[in-house]
Amino acid sequence: MRVIVVGAGYAGVIAANRLRRRSDARVTVINPRPDFVQRIRLHQHIADTGAATVPLADMLRPGIDVHVGTVDKIGDGALRVEGGSELEFDRLVYTVGAGVAAPAGTFGVGTWEAAVAAREALRALASGGRVTVAGAGLT
Ligand SMILES: Cc1cc2nc3c(=O)[nH]c(=O)nc-3n(C[C@H](O)[C@H](O)[C@H](O)COP(=O)(O)OP(=O)(O)OC[C@H]3O[C@@H](n4cnc5c(N)ncnc54)[C@H](O)[C@@H]3O)c2cc1C
Repeated sequence: MRVIVVGAGYAGVIAANRLRRRSDARVTVINPRPDFVQRIRLHQHIADTGAATVPLADMLRPGIDVHVGTVDKIGDGALRVEGGSELEFDRLVYTVGAGVAAPAGTFGVGTWEAAVAAREALRALASGGRVTVAGAGLT
């Protein structure tokens, strides 16, 4: 059985590792990057106080294939990865997470791409520059 897991966050990594235990499952994980992003540490990446990524190879059981890319179309038994390649599956696990769009003029913390942009903006800030944090939860 060919199983594709779309999205290698917490849910996708755990699902892939559990499915790999089944001897009849060939598991492929598709993720935009070869790293696992710890979303709960993105604020540390932004503030440059800690790392937020771990290589996926260190997280996944041996025998799981990793395909780096972003899925942009899913059909009946096949999907397309941005850029053109098509992959076939018998079962699909869709674990792409959730996000909140940051309003224009702000930097979000919820995705790797947003955190990278926020960190760069902070680094470019002149000394003494003012930063406003919207939202006073733990993050
Ligand atoms: C700043 C921050 C702090 C948090 N702190 C906590 C906390 O302290 N405790 C807690 O329990 N939770 C916390 N959360 C929530 C927690 O991070 C999420 O609940 C969790 O990440 C959800 O896991 P997930 O696997 O569903 O999705 P994600 O971790 O978001 O993983 C989804 C993956 O799918 C990939 N993906 C998306 N679209 C595609 C596509 N089209 N094709 C291929 N891949 C795709 C993404 O790039 C990503 O790698 C926090 C979240 C944030 C943003």
